[in-house]
Amino acid sequence: MAVVTRSTDRPAAPVLGDDPALAALLDAEDERRRSQLHLLAGENLSLPGVRAILGGALADKYAEGYPGHRHHTGCAQADAVERLAVDRARTLFGAEHANVQPNSGTAATLAAYAAVLRPGDAVLAMSLAHGGHLTHGSRANFSGRWFDFHGYGVRRDDGLIDLDQVLELARTVRPKAIVAGAISYPRAIDWAGFRTVADEVGAYLVADVSQTIGLVAAGVLESPVPYADVVCGVTHKLLRGPRGGLLLCRSALAERLDRAVFPFTQGGPAMDVVAAKALALGAAAAPEFTAYAQETVANARTLAGALDRIGLRPLTGGTDTHLVTTDARGLGLTGKEVERRCEAAGLLVGRCAVPFDDAPPAAASGVRLGTARATAQGMGPAQMEQSAALIERVLADGSPEQAGAVAREVRSLLQRFPV
Ligand SMILES: *Cc1c(COP(=O)(O)O)cnc(C)c1O
Repeated sequence: MAVVTRSTDRPAAPVLGDDPALAALLDAEDERRRSQLHLLAGENLSLPGVRAILGGALADKYAEGYPGHRHHTGCAQADAVERLAVDRARTLFGAEHANVQPNSGTAATLAAYAAVLRPGDAVLAMSLAHGGHLTHGSRANFSGRWFDFHGYGVRRDDGLIDLDQVLELARTVRPKAIVAGAISYPRAIDWAGFRTVADEVGAYLVADVSQTIGLVAAGVLESPVPYADVVCGVTHKLLRGPRGGLLLCRSALAERLDRAVFPFTQGGPAMDVVAAKALALGAAAAPEFTAYAQETVANARTLAGALDRIGLRPLTGGTDTHLVTTDARGLGLTGKEVERRCEAAGLLVGRCAVPFDDAPPAAASGVRLGTARATAQGMGPAQMEQSAALIERVLADGSPEQAGAVAREVRSLLQRFPV
């Protein structure tokens, strides 16, 4: 019988013995995740305790509402667990209020907008072409459909956000909210500068730190909490927690924000996920996590330097975060082709648009990498150099033979740093 327990800390669910088709798929996924080097910006390895909690005692519990005010009975433990998660989030980020119920980063952002905006309101956010997230005004997303989003970008010469441009746009657009934060921006964000712009035009400031929240928790990056009206984040990226969202705000907005999550945009929270968030938020307060966050950024800087030497030019010249965004045009390859050649060799990277990209989005000129998961596996600077050298080989030679040879080296590297 297929064994599917390797990916969890719990015994095999007997039901999978009755479902060999699904068991085989999960086994194959377990094999895949062990044999590919993940250098994807938004991925990490959840802590072993997180995997132990998910699907456990609280998974089946309905607990609509908030601690002390539930719409269901039997919520004593659910209340205590959610209070613990909220307290840990408030302490970790120094925030007056936290909401740990959003089911995802997108759900957290939807609730943040619901708390401070009305449909049709003008909003200023990083344009998607320059690194903004879907929830920052994509026409395919509720944000772009229900609100009047306007995009700011980065400067052509240095790739950095230009706060003078943001202010100029804000004066024209008169947004009700300004969103700061991005999915594809490797540099620290000037929260105080954004606050000044927001105050100038009387706008709310919404900070989306979903990418970098673990670096904020560890004090490696400056926190938006003292500056933003609402902070949106996720627990499954740098925090190594369960898949889910997180919101922080001041007491004055707390009630509006909580109502924007439940009952406005969500029903019952996933209480096992809330418990796993509590675990990750507790772990992020430990000195080991600070060291992990520092190593993650150091690895990203090493990787950026090594990629520069092989012709994948780092945008903005480097990084302050776990992210390395690169421009592949110097190699005469599209981002998609780099992504394809790397995947064939067991190296996972992501294509992305570069600011002012002339390639169609499906091809894209950039490649985005992240070091959060490799660092969680224990890799250091030497492995970052080695990764860049492996990438260099498939970029120089796109043949299946080369992909196979590199894939063998990736597997032997991963044997030294097992998942
Ligand atoms: C990952 C991310 C999100 C969305 O998270 P999901 O959980 O995938 O919905 C939102 N904003 C930014 C900046 C992100 O990096």
